[in-house]
Amino acid sequence: MTRYLYLSPHLDDVILSAGATIASRLEAGDEVAIVTVFSGNLDSSNAEEAAVYGERRAEDKKAISLLSTQSGALYKTIYLGLADAPFRDSKYTSFEAIVNSPVSGDDEIGESLKCRVGKMLEIERPDVLVTPLGVGRHVDHRLVFEAIATLAWQGESRFYQERPYAFVPGAVDLRWSSLGARPIAFGTALPAQEYPEVSFLAGYRKESEMCTEVREVLVWRWNNNAYCKYPVAPSKPQRRRRLLAIAAYKSQLAALFDSEAETAEEAIAQLYGSCPEVEWQIHNQSPPTGISLSAKEK
Ligand SMILES: [Zn+2]
Repeated sequence: MTRYLYLSPHLDDVILSAGATIASRLEAGDEVAIVTVFSGNLDSSNAEEAAVYGERRAEDKKAISLLSTQSGALYKTIYLGLADAPFRDSKYTSFEAIVNSPVSGDDEIGESLKCRVGKMLEIERPDVLVTPLGVGRHVDHRLVFEAIATLAWQGESRFYQERPYAFVPGAVDLRWSSLGARPIAFGTALPAQEYPEVSFLAGYRKESEMCTEVREVLVWRWNNNAYCKYPVAPSKPQRRRRLLAIAAYKSQLAALFDSEAETAEEAIAQLYGSCPEVEWQIHNQSPPTGISLSAKEK
């Protein structure tokens, strides 16, 4: 049995990005803990914050319970209770401010986050830590990424690429590039990807089109490590459970999928299609088969 610990910036990110993978891990008898960082303070004097996050945590618990059909599935949720960007600082009034603000402008929360996540890892001691890569550039996602990048976690570490942001062609490459990573191994050329015009993604499209190389990058080198793309292939029933779990985030459906609860399943299925979920692994841990670095690196 492997003990996985996923870090979720918000109440939905892990299920949106890795829901089917988690369903497959639970079915294999592995243990999964999902730690949501910016999950709101339920004791806040701000009545709106307490009400909103009470409802969102209930949705989250429901969503996770839908990922497994087995009564003895080993999962748990942990909420660190930090306020997400618009609730903690008035500078985050627009989505542009949220995606464009540097993490250095949020030093205090960054330090607090590092301290809390560090303590939590000491207690939980997972075999594998899975962290958001920061695709989409939401400041809260980048703060979680930075915390892990500077914590020097010694165990096995992976990154998931955030959905739905990662559906925009070039968005993942853009994130790696902004970290100063350089591509090493390319796959075959990608066809122009078709994806529904969900308004949530519209802002990213323009930026990602600036990436002229729309090829599939399989390996990046960053901070002296090689990160390999590792596509995960859950079964159809596991993907179906992911769909039902995502649809359980009722308060988010309009913003994410331009959809009401009645049509959510169809909207999610259309966007997600059969695109595999992806994890990035450090090369010297368990490289995916069929990828050879040596020839490409010369
Ligand atoms: Zn998020």
